[in-house]
Amino acid sequence: MRTEHLLGCIKKYCRNKVDDNTLHLIMALRVKTCKDIKKSAGRRDTREKARMYSHVGHKPDVICIAPDFSILPANCKLGILLHEVGHIATGLGNEPEADLWVKDVLGITVNYYSDLELEYINNNWVEEICG
Ligand SMILES: [Zn+2]
Repeated sequence: MRTEHLLGCIKKYCRNKVDDNTLHLIMALRVKTCKDIKKSAGRRDTREKARMYSHVGHKPDVICIAPDFSILPANCKLGILLHEVGHIATGLGNEPEADLWVKDVLGITVNYYSDLELEYINNNWVEEICG
């Protein structure tokens, strides 16, 4: 599934679950390929490695994705996009705050493959969000 389509599914899923101001921020989001992502990978702590694939706060209303984001399976793409939406919804909150927002407001747990710190959601959520 194309990344734009997956973000569209997340927007739809957020509609009746988030407040108007946050929804406005989420609805404005677009995905754009960003070549700066690899440069910032692996800094500071291991959680930074997730930035190999995506980041926010670089360009207004944009979730930057790596050129190779498209190779990821849908449940990873959705996990990453949800995590980034969590950053936006919390006013660029930190890593745990982003995932906590996704859990508290949307009811979805963002999981990590421990070796890569790569986000994923369980497959039943893929169906729930995109079905
Ligand atoms: Zn970027």
